[in-house]
Amino acid sequence: MIAEGGADRMRVCDAEGCQNAFVDLSRNGSRRFCSSRACGNRTHAAAYRARRRE
Ligand SMILES: [Zn+2]
Repeated sequence: MIAEGGADRMRVCDAEGCQNAFVDLSRNGSRRFCSSRACGNRTHAAAYRARRRE
């Protein structure tokens, strides 16, 4: 196991057009966005719209 916290938890936001870095403090390290409310919702909404276009 890797020690909790620190540089190994550094992530870059997965949202399109967002380059924010953040520290993933979630227990399983699965966080993808600097802000799940802003970037997470935006990305999910974009994916939803993309699916509906097909
Ligand atoms: Zn972001």
